[in-house]
Amino acid sequence: MGKVIAIANQKGGVGKTTTAVNLAASLAVAEKRVLLIDFDPQGNASSALGIDRNQINSTNSVYYALLGETPLSQVIRPTEMDCLFVAPTTPDLAGAEIELVSTFSRESKLKTAIAEVKSQYDYILIDCPPSLGLLTINALTAADSYLVPMQCEYFALEGVSDLMKTVSLIRQSVNPQLQDEGIVLTMFDGRNNLANEVVKEVRSHFGSLAFETIVPRNVRLSECSSFGKPVLLYDIDSKGCLSYLNLAKEFLARNQPVEQKPVPPALRVQAPQAAGQTGQAV
Ligand code: ADP
Ligand code: MG
Repeated sequence: MGKVIAIANQKGGVGKTTTAVNLAASLAVAEKRVLLIDFDPQGNASSALGIDRNQINSTNSVYYALLGETPLSQVIRPTEMDCLFVAPTTPDLAGAEIELVSTFSRESKLKTAIAEVKSQYDYILIDCPPSLGLLTINALTAADSYLVPMQCEYFALEGVSDLMKTVSLIRQSVNPQLQDEGIVLTMFDGRNNLANEVVKEVRSHFGSLAFETIVPRNVRLSECSSFGKPVLLYDIDSKGCLSYLNLAKEFLARNQPVEQKPVPPALRVQAPQAAGQTGQAV
C-alpha cells in the first residue's frame, strides 16, 4: 500500500513545489513508483512536469476527482520518467475550497479519491497550496505523513506553529495516525550568516525531525521547471539535483521497512528464544 505524504507549509515561495517535484523524481529514479498530486490551484507542479495546460480541463483534473465526478485513475498522466506519474490540476480547484464547505465529509474528499489508486504506488506526494484552508486540510486528512519545506530565511519559523496547530487538530479528529515525515531546509546560501543561524535554530528546535540534507539555493532548480522537467532530466550534475537525490536517500532510509533495518548487535544477543528453552545466551 502506497504511503501518502503531504508537502505542506502555508507560506508561499518556500520550496514546496520544487521539493515535491524533485523528491518525487529522485524517488522514481530509485525505481519507486511515485504519484505526484498537484493540489495547488496554481498548477506549478503540473507545468514543472511538462503537462500542457491546454490539454487539461476541469473534467480531467484533480478538481473533478476531488468532487467525485471523475475517478482519480482517469486523471493521472505519465511523465518523461517511467516510474513517475502526475495528477494535474486546473485553477478551478480554488473554487473547491468554497464548493465543498457545505458537503458531507468535506475534509475526506481527497482521501476517498486516493483510495482507488493507493495500492498502485509506493509513494504518493501531495503538493499543497500556500494556505491552511480546506484543500490543505484534505491533504492532511488523506496523508500518512506530512513534510515541511522551510526556507532558510529570517521568518522561516513564523507560521510553522499554525501548521503544527492544524496538524494537531487533524490528529485529534479525522486522522490520528498522521506522522511527522520531517522538515527540509531549502534555498540555503552558505555565504549568508542568517541562513546559518536559521539552520542552527531549526536543528535545535526540531532535532532529528529536520533532515540532514539541506537544499542549497541553486539556479538550476528554478530553471528546470520552465523547461517542464525535474532537475534530474535538466542538469544531473547540479548541486540542486544532488541535494534532492540525497534527500530521497535519507527519506528512503527513514522509510525502510522495519524488518529490513539492520539489527543492532545489542538486540541480536537478546533474540527471542524458542519455546521450552532455558534462558541461555543466544
Ligand atoms: P512554493 O511551492 O512553496 O510556493 P516553490 O517551490 O514554487 O515554492 O519555490 C518558489 C520559487 O523559488 C520558485 O521560483 C522556485 O523555482 C524557486 N526555488 C525553489 N527552490 C529553490 C532553490 N533551492 N534554489 C533556487 N531557487 C529555488
Ligand atoms: Mg507551490
